Amino acid sequence: MVTGCVELHQSFKAADSTVPIPPPVPSKSDGHQKRYVAPGIEHSCVSTATRDMWDRLFNDGYKANVVIYTDNGGIIYAHANIIGTASTVIKGMLKQAKRHGKWHAISIRGVPHDAVRVFIRFLYSACYEKEEMNEFIMHLLLLSHAYVVPQLKRLCEWHLEHGLLNTENVIDVFQLALLCDFPRLSVISHRMIMNHFKELYATEAWIAMQKSHPFLEKELRDSVIIEENMRKDRIRKCNERRIYSQLYEAMEALVHICRDGCKTIGPHDKDFKPNHAPCNYQACKGLESLIRHFAGCKLKVPGGCVHCKRMWQLLELHSRVCADSDQCRVPLCRNFKEKMEKQSKKDEVRWKLLVRNMLGTKIIGRSPFFLPVTSSSSSVS
Ligand SMILES: [Zn+2]
Ligand SMILES: [Zn+2]
Ligand SMILES: [Zn+2]
Repeated sequence: MVTGCVELHQSFKAADSTVPIPPPVPSKSDGHQKRYVAPGIEHSCVSTATRDMWDRLFNDGYKANVVIYTDNGGIIYAHANIIGTASTVIKGMLKQAKRHGKWHAISIRGVPHDAVRVFIRFLYSACYEKEEMNEFIMHLLLLSHAYVVPQLKRLCEWHLEHGLLNTENVIDVFQLALLCDFPRLSVISHRMIMNHFKELYATEAWIAMQKSHPFLEKELRDSVIIEENMRKDRIRKCNERRIYSQLYEAMEALVHICRDGCKTIGPHDKDFKPNHAPCNYQACKGLESLIRHFAGCKLKVPGGCVHCKRMWQLLELHSRVCADSDQCRVPLCRNFKEKMEKQSKKDEVRWKLLVRNMLGTKIIGRSPFFLPVTSSSSSVS
């Protein structure tokens, strides 16, 4: 064919040099946008020319010996040895259809004719158009499973995962993934359903699923409730952690105030320098005002006012995490250590739990003034 074209050009030239060279004859695939091949194939050693040849063989149906009947009277021609090799299921169908003589006749129904065309073309060349993939993804997914074509199965999964899965098809994909053994796809679509539950619930697809697979629908609703509880639990734990972390910072600031002094308060045996370096402890400000209040509280409330009670608790907590009460400058540190020995078992467990949770928030870079987390609290479970 190429030789023929060259001869034609030369004869034109010889006849009249002013005649323009005709453009190349358009091929069948022209007019289409970029042709796609299955991932993994595009970098294979199979050349484009070879793929084009397989595509052409399908399009032209040269010496085809199989007729495939599709819905609405559609017909596709194919080659028995090619489609039979690509799919063992089709091979079995062809065997059964042998009695028809020279021409094998099989039927692929229940999906649009064009979807079957895309499917059969894929068996030849592993090529497809992007638009066709977008339009027939669900049918191709089904066909790839029904006719056992693993390469197309993987391709459909890949396309769904990389853009084609959406809130319109996710419920169908999820059911199909479970029925047709697509484990990864079922996980991905399940996650999408969980994330868009409010939007998807009571849609047409959802109601259809409720009718066809009531157990599955109930399981989905249950999972939403479980997920929601887990989410609330995560938020609660996160808030708890934040509170314990703030408590830890308050403990650090307390040691710092009683050892170095800060802004308005200094250790009793040192001169306070009002213009010393800026403080790095965020908790200092609140703690200083609490200490000042504690020192001069005039509220005559039994057991102390709410601020004083808080200060007592902080001082006791400090004593429980203090690594060396003999060197410590925090007031009452040693007194609380002695008091601890007389404490009830119940109180002891409560305090140890608080200490463990608080120290647990700073595993790395913990203060040298505090006990390691294991020695003070490992006995609590
Ligand atoms: Zn400070
Ligand atoms: Zn008070
Ligand atoms: Zn101490």
